[in-house]
Amino acid sequence: MNQGLPPTAEPINKLIQELNKLPGIGPKSAQRLAYYLLRAPEEHARLLSDAILSVKQQITLCSSCFNVTDVDPCRICRSAERDRSKICIVEQPQDILALEHTRIYKGLYHVLHGAISPTEGVGTEDIRIRELLERLRDSPVEEVILATNTNLEGEQTALYLNHLIAPLGIKVTRLARGLPFGTELEYADDVTLTRALEGRQEL
Ligand SMILES: [Zn+2]
Repeated sequence: MNQGLPPTAEPINKLIQELNKLPGIGPKSAQRLAYYLLRAPEEHARLLSDAILSVKQQITLCSSCFNVTDVDPCRICRSAERDRSKICIVEQPQDILALEHTRIYKGLYHVLHGAISPTEGVGTEDIRIRELLERLRDSPVEEVILATNTNLEGEQTALYLNHLIAPLGIKVTRLARGLPFGTELEYADDVTLTRALEGRQEL
Protein backbone atom coordinates (compact mmCIF):
# COMPACT_ATOMS: atom_id res chain seq x y z
CA MET A 1 0.00 0.00 0.00
CA ASN A 2 1.14 3.52 -0.82
CA GLN A 3 0.72 5.31 2.44
CA GLY A 4 -0.85 8.73 2.20
CA LEU A 5 -2.01 8.23 -1.36
CA PRO A 6 -5.68 7.87 -2.27
CA PRO A 7 -6.80 4.46 -3.60
CA THR A 8 -6.32 5.40 -7.26
CA ALA A 9 -5.08 3.13 -10.02
CA GLU A 10 -1.56 1.88 -9.41
CA PRO A 11 0.03 3.42 -12.57
CA ILE A 12 -1.32 6.84 -11.56
CA ASN A 13 0.03 6.43 -8.03
CA LYS A 14 3.38 5.48 -9.47
CA LEU A 15 3.51 8.55 -11.71
CA ILE A 16 2.50 10.80 -8.80
CA GLN A 17 5.24 9.27 -6.67
CA GLU A 18 7.89 9.83 -9.34
CA LEU A 19 6.82 13.41 -10.03
CA ASN A 20 6.81 14.08 -6.30
CA LYS A 21 10.54 13.26 -6.21
CA LEU A 22 11.28 16.26 -8.47
CA PRO A 23 12.60 19.42 -6.77
CA GLY A 24 9.87 21.94 -6.06
CA ILE A 25 7.05 19.48 -6.80
CA GLY A 26 4.96 18.75 -3.72
CA PRO A 27 2.27 16.04 -3.50
CA LYS A 28 -0.48 18.39 -4.76
CA SER A 29 1.49 19.53 -7.81
CA ALA A 30 2.51 15.94 -8.52
CA GLN A 31 -1.14 14.94 -8.52
CA ARG A 32 -2.11 17.82 -10.80
CA LEU A 33 0.69 16.98 -13.25
CA ALA A 34 -0.16 13.28 -13.23
CA TYR A 35 -3.81 13.92 -14.07
CA TYR A 36 -2.79 16.48 -16.67
CA LEU A 37 -0.56 13.88 -18.37
CA LEU A 38 -3.34 11.32 -18.12
CA ARG A 39 -5.64 13.59 -20.13
CA ALA A 40 -2.93 14.82 -22.55
CA PRO A 41 -2.54 13.27 -26.02
CA GLU A 42 -0.32 10.19 -26.00
CA GLU A 43 2.12 11.99 -28.34
CA HIS A 44 2.68 14.65 -25.69
CA ALA A 45 3.51 12.06 -23.04
CA ARG A 46 5.85 10.27 -25.45
CA LEU A 47 7.76 13.49 -26.29
CA LEU A 48 8.17 14.20 -22.60
CA SER A 49 9.45 10.73 -21.74
CA ASP A 50 11.77 10.78 -24.80
CA ALA A 51 13.19 14.15 -23.73
CA ILE A 52 13.87 12.83 -20.22
CA LEU A 53 15.59 9.69 -21.54
CA SER A 54 17.64 11.65 -24.11
CA VAL A 55 19.02 13.86 -21.37
CA LYS A 56 20.18 10.78 -19.50
CA GLN A 57 21.54 8.98 -22.56
CA GLN A 58 23.11 11.78 -24.60
CA ILE A 59 24.43 14.22 -22.05
CA THR A 60 27.92 13.78 -20.65
CA LEU A 61 30.40 16.07 -18.97
CA CYS A 62 32.88 18.15 -20.98
CA SER A 63 36.33 16.68 -20.36
CA SER A 64 37.76 20.18 -20.05
CA CYS A 65 35.28 22.34 -18.11
CA PHE A 66 32.89 19.63 -16.77
CA ASN A 67 29.83 21.43 -18.06
CA VAL A 68 27.01 19.16 -19.25
CA THR A 69 27.25 18.65 -22.99
CA ASP A 70 26.28 16.46 -25.93
CA VAL A 71 29.66 17.03 -27.65
CA ASP A 72 33.10 16.87 -26.09
CA PRO A 73 34.70 19.40 -25.69
CA CYS A 74 31.52 21.38 -25.09
CA ARG A 75 30.34 24.16 -27.38
CA ILE A 76 31.80 26.87 -25.11
CA CYS A 77 35.23 25.22 -24.82
CA ARG A 78 35.45 24.62 -28.59
CA SER A 79 34.24 28.10 -29.60
CA ALA A 80 36.87 30.31 -31.28
CA GLU A 81 34.99 33.36 -30.01
CA ARG A 82 35.65 32.75 -26.31
CA ASP A 83 38.38 34.56 -24.40
CA ARG A 84 40.77 31.83 -23.23
CA SER A 85 42.53 34.10 -20.75
CA LYS A 86 39.57 33.93 -18.33
CA ILE A 87 38.00 31.02 -16.48
CA CYS A 88 34.90 31.51 -14.39
CA ILE A 89 34.45 28.92 -11.63
CA VAL A 90 30.90 27.88 -10.81
CA GLU A 91 29.37 25.25 -8.57
CA GLN A 92 26.79 23.78 -10.95
CA PRO A 93 26.19 23.57 -14.72
CA GLN A 94 22.99 25.61 -14.39
CA ASP A 95 25.07 28.53 -13.06
CA ILE A 96 26.63 28.77 -16.53
CA LEU A 97 23.17 29.29 -17.99
CA ALA A 98 22.57 32.19 -15.62
CA LEU A 99 25.92 33.81 -16.46
CA GLU A 100 25.54 33.25 -20.21
CA HIS A 101 22.18 34.97 -20.00
CA THR A 102 23.89 38.24 -19.02
CA ARG A 103 25.80 38.13 -22.34
CA ILE A 104 28.71 40.10 -20.92
CA TYR A 105 31.04 37.22 -20.04
CA LYS A 106 33.00 35.81 -22.96
CA GLY A 107 35.57 33.66 -21.18
CA LEU A 108 35.57 29.95 -20.36
CA TYR A 109 34.11 28.13 -17.37
CA HIS A 110 34.95 25.39 -14.91
CA VAL A 111 32.19 23.51 -13.09
CA LEU A 112 33.13 22.22 -9.64
CA HIS A 113 29.97 20.11 -9.20
CA GLY A 114 29.51 21.20 -5.63
CA ALA A 115 31.09 23.29 -2.91
CA ILE A 116 33.23 22.38 0.07
CA SER A 117 30.94 21.60 2.99
CA PRO A 118 32.39 19.89 6.07
CA THR A 119 28.89 19.60 7.57
CA GLU A 120 27.66 17.63 4.57
CA GLY A 121 30.88 15.69 4.25
CA VAL A 122 31.96 17.31 0.96
CA GLY A 123 35.73 17.71 1.01
CA THR A 124 38.23 19.26 -1.39
CA GLU A 125 38.67 15.89 -3.13
CA ASP A 126 34.95 15.51 -3.82
CA ILE A 127 34.63 18.43 -6.25
CA ARG A 128 36.56 19.13 -9.45
CA ILE A 129 39.43 21.10 -7.89
CA ARG A 130 42.25 18.78 -8.94
CA GLU A 131 41.04 18.96 -12.55
CA LEU A 132 40.96 22.76 -12.32
CA LEU A 133 44.55 22.95 -11.12
CA GLU A 134 45.64 20.59 -13.89
CA ARG A 135 43.85 22.80 -16.36
CA LEU A 136 45.49 25.96 -15.06
CA ARG A 137 48.93 24.42 -15.39
CA ASP A 138 50.45 25.33 -18.80
CA SER A 139 47.39 27.34 -19.79
CA PRO A 140 47.15 30.94 -21.01
CA VAL A 141 44.73 31.81 -18.19
CA GLU A 142 45.30 35.25 -16.72
CA GLU A 143 42.21 35.61 -14.56
CA VAL A 144 40.12 33.17 -12.56
CA ILE A 145 36.72 34.52 -11.54
CA LEU A 146 35.26 32.79 -8.49
CA ALA A 147 31.51 32.67 -9.04
CA THR A 148 30.58 30.19 -6.33
CA ASN A 149 27.37 30.90 -4.40
CA THR A 150 27.50 33.58 -1.73
CA ASN A 151 26.48 31.20 1.07
CA LEU A 152 28.84 29.71 3.64
CA GLU A 153 29.90 26.77 1.44
CA GLY A 154 30.44 28.99 -1.59
CA GLU A 155 32.55 31.47 0.37
CA GLN A 156 34.64 28.69 1.93
CA THR A 157 35.24 27.20 -1.49
CA ALA A 158 36.22 30.60 -2.96
CA LEU A 159 38.72 31.22 -0.15
CA TYR A 160 40.22 27.78 -0.54
CA LEU A 161 40.57 28.18 -4.32
CA ASN A 162 42.13 31.62 -3.94
CA HIS A 163 44.66 30.09 -1.57
CA LEU A 164 45.57 27.50 -4.24
CA ILE A 165 45.44 29.66 -7.37
CA ALA A 166 46.93 33.01 -6.31
CA PRO A 167 50.43 31.50 -5.81
CA LEU A 168 50.35 30.38 -9.48
CA GLY A 169 50.61 34.04 -10.48
CA ILE A 170 47.03 34.12 -11.82
CA LYS A 171 44.76 37.03 -10.92
CA VAL A 172 41.86 35.76 -8.79
CA THR A 173 38.64 37.77 -8.60
CA ARG A 174 35.35 37.20 -6.80
CA LEU A 175 31.93 38.31 -8.00
CA ALA A 176 31.09 41.67 -6.45
CA ARG A 177 29.19 41.96 -3.21
CA GLY A 178 26.12 43.13 -5.13
CA LEU A 179 24.94 39.57 -4.67
CA PRO A 180 23.19 39.31 -1.30
CA PHE A 181 24.57 36.72 1.14
CA GLY A 182 22.93 33.36 0.59
CA THR A 183 22.39 33.88 -3.12
CA GLU A 184 22.40 30.83 -5.34
CA LEU A 185 23.75 31.97 -8.66
CA GLU A 186 21.19 30.16 -10.76
CA TYR A 187 18.39 32.18 -9.17
CA ALA A 188 20.07 35.60 -9.38
CA ASP A 189 18.49 38.00 -11.89
CA ASP A 190 20.37 39.26 -14.95
CA VAL A 191 20.85 42.83 -13.69
CA THR A 192 22.32 41.70 -10.36
CA LEU A 193 24.56 39.15 -12.06
CA THR A 194 25.79 41.64 -14.65
CA ARG A 195 26.60 44.12 -11.89
CA ALA A 196 28.35 41.42 -9.87
CA LEU A 197 30.42 40.37 -12.89
CA GLU A 198 31.38 43.91 -13.85
CA GLY A 199 32.20 44.84 -10.28
CA ARG A 200 34.26 41.74 -9.53
CA GLN A 201 37.15 42.40 -7.19
CA GLU A 202 40.55 40.91 -6.77
CA LEU A 203 40.82 38.72 -3.68
ZN1 LIG B 1 33.71 22.61 -21.82
